[in-house]
Amino acid sequence: MNTTLSIGTYFGIPVKLHWTFFFILFLIVFIATSYQLNGSEILMFSTSVLILFFSVVLHEFGHALMARKCNIKTHDILLSPIGGLARLERIPKNPKLEIKIALAGPFVNAVIASILFMVLLILKCDDFTPLDDFSRIQDPMEFLKMIFFLNLVLFIFNLIPAFPMDGGRVLRAVLAFKMDYTRATIFAANLGKVLAVGFLIYGFFSKLMSLPVISIFILMMADKEIKMAKDAKIKSGINK
Ligand SMILES: [Zn+2]
Repeated sequence: MNTTLSIGTYFGIPVKLHWTFFFILFLIVFIATSYQLNGSEILMFSTSVLILFFSVVLHEFGHALMARKCNIKTHDILLSPIGGLARLERIPKNPKLEIKIALAGPFVNAVIASILFMVLLILKCDDFTPLDDFSRIQDPMEFLKMIFFLNLVLFIFNLIPAFPMDGGRVLRAVLAFKMDYTRATIFAANLGKVLAVGFLIYGFFSKLMSLPVISIFILMMADKEIKMAKDAKIKSGINK
């Protein structure tokens, strides 16, 4: 099922929601009931989810605009509950360009996190422990802190060398200096799968249920990337 909903075109790039994106609504209802949030708390929590996805969109525009600088078009930016994906028209053959494009996304989150960190320091925030109680989200300082942490997590999480995440792309590009692209993709994707199985096991033992979901996503995406790399190889073979 490939149904998407367009939410506008920015910088000439359409932004679309994958149909599974609407599972986010179930998540909001689940959190709201399990933490017994009141109306305004639900509003603040929903706003924070929106801000998280806005940060993800900015991250994806980091990739897309850097790709444009490298003369690569982006078909669209696709959002799912697990994250975003800037769908580039092609994978750059030059590993240096791929590293540049892969790092541009996390760089955006690093910039947002740094700006918010400075703002929090100016506001004399002295407690940098992450929010563990959604009812405190109404405090403007806690709210800013949460956006700061969301961007910090997006930055760190994306640099994990688990293909197809950005860290995995950097790894693939580094490997591509030494081997052909398909082999580099298979190697990086398989490493991603190993890490995903690790996340899965750790998630079950630590009861961090978001980890198994992420692992399943990595496992699915890893296979998709391998297939794409193989298809691209066949295509380039035909073209020759
Ligand atoms: Zn990214």
